[in-house]
Amino acid sequence: MENFHNKVIEFVKENERNIVQDIKDICAIRSLLGPAQPNAPFGKENRECLDLALAMSRRLGLDAVDCEGYMGYAEVKGEKEEYIASIAHLDVVPEGNGWKGDPFVVREVDGWLIGRGVCDDKGPAVLTMYMLKFFKDNYEKLPYTLRALFGCEEETGMRDLEYYLENYPAPVFAFTPDANFPVCCGEKGQASGDLVSAKIENGNVVDFTAGVASNVIPDRASITVKVNGKALPAADGIEIAVEGETATLKAFGIGGHAAMPEGTKNAIGMLVNYCLDNGLLTAEEEVFFNMLRDLHATNYGEGMGVASDDGIFEPLTFIGGMMKIEDGCFVQNFNCRYPTSITGEEIEKILADKLASVGGTTKNIHTVKPFYVDKNSAPIQALLTAYNDATGKNEEAYTIGGGTYARHFPAAAAFGVEPCASETDYFPDFIGPVHGAEEGYDIKGFMKALEILIIATARLMEIEF
Ligand SMILES: [Zn+2]
Repeated sequence: MENFHNKVIEFVKENERNIVQDIKDICAIRSLLGPAQPNAPFGKENRECLDLALAMSRRLGLDAVDCEGYMGYAEVKGEKEEYIASIAHLDVVPEGNGWKGDPFVVREVDGWLIGRGVCDDKGPAVLTMYMLKFFKDNYEKLPYTLRALFGCEEETGMRDLEYYLENYPAPVFAFTPDANFPVCCGEKGQASGDLVSAKIENGNVVDFTAGVASNVIPDRASITVKVNGKALPAADGIEIAVEGETATLKAFGIGGHAAMPEGTKNAIGMLVNYCLDNGLLTAEEEVFFNMLRDLHATNYGEGMGVASDDGIFEPLTFIGGMMKIEDGCFVQNFNCRYPTSITGEEIEKILADKLASVGGTTKNIHTVKPFYVDKNSAPIQALLTAYNDATGKNEEAYTIGGGTYARHFPAAAAFGVEPCASETDYFPDFIGPVHGAEEGYDIKGFMKALEILIIATARLMEIEF
C-alpha cells in the first residue's frame, strides 16, 4: 500500500507541467451552449472542446470515443465489460463581467490558475484523463473497465447525459469531480411551478414583477399600485416613486440560490409585506397576498404547510423566485428542495389545497425525486477513506440541495475537487467563485485531487458491484 501510494505521488509529480498545459489549452475554447449543427448538438465550440479532450486522451495512450457530440469518453479496458466511470463536463457558463484579464487565456498567479472553466469543470476533466493514464501505465489488467466521461451540456440541462444513458450501458458506479470533497452522497428532491391567484377584477395592483429564474432568489422586485390617496411611509430597502394616482415601489433585498437560501432576503416578500401593512390592496388581492406573506415569512415552507426534515438532508427549502401578472392573475413561481421525509406528490397536493383555499390554482408543476446513496455503502466509503487517508483528515460524507450529474446514474456520487466546506479560508482574495469572475484553482490542489482520484478509483476496483 505504501509502495502504491508513493507510485501515485511520483506519477502526479511527473505529470504536473503537462497537466497545467492541458488545462490551459482546453480552457482556451469558449465552450458555451451554441446552436446545434450536424454532429455538434451543443454547438461548434462544444464540438471543438470535445475533439480536443479526445485528442489529449489519445496522446496519453488511451482509447477515446465520441458519443455523437453529446459526450465522449476515454477508456482503459478491464477484465469485465462492466465499468466504473468518472464524469466531468467541458461546457462552461458565460464569462460575465469583472475579469482582470482574458477569461479564456489562463493566467498563472502565485501557483493559481485563473480562467473560465479552470475549476468548473475543465481542470477536473483533465485530471480524469491522467487518472486513466496512471492505470493504463501501471496495471496489466484492471478488474473493471474504467471510463472518463466528458459531458458537453452540464450547465444548461444535462441533455448530454440523458442521451448517453439512453444509448450506452450505465456504469456500475460513477463519480463526478464537480463539487466539493470529501464526497456528496445525496441530492435533495426538487419541485417547482407556479402558484396562480384567482382572476382579480378591479384590483389596485397594476404591475408586479420580479425574478430572472426559478432557482434564483430575487434581490429586486417592483410593484405598481393605485394609491387612492393613501400615505406611503418610508421603509428600509424600498424606493417609492409616486406618479399621479399610482406609485411604483422597488424593493432591494439580498439575492441567492434557491438551494441555499440562508442569509438571503427575498425582494418579493418585502413588497408583499409593505402592501399589506399599508392597506394598499383590495380585499380580493389581500387574500392572495396573505398567502404570499406566509410563503415568504421563512425559506423553509412552513407558511405553505410543506416544511419537512428527515435528519439525512438539510430541511426542506421553499422560495418564491419569480413574480408576474398574467391574464389578470398573480403568478408566483416557486422552487422547493425537499428531503426524503416528503414526496413530490405530497407537496403537489398540499400546494393545490392551499391554493384552492384562496381561490387559485397550481400550474406547471415539475418534480424530481431526491437522490441518495447510503453513506455507509462500499463505494461511498471507498471514496471517503481515499480522501481521508490522502489528506490525514477525518471528514464525513455530505448531502446538497443542488443537483449534479450524479443523480442521473443508478449509483453515483459527487467527489471533489473543490475543498471541503470546513476549509473556509482555502481561496485567496484574488480568486473568484465558480460561475463568477476570476474563477480559479491552485496547481497544488489539482495535484492533490489527482492523487485522491487515483487512490479512490483503485479502491472502487476492489468492490464487488
Ligand atoms: Zn460544474
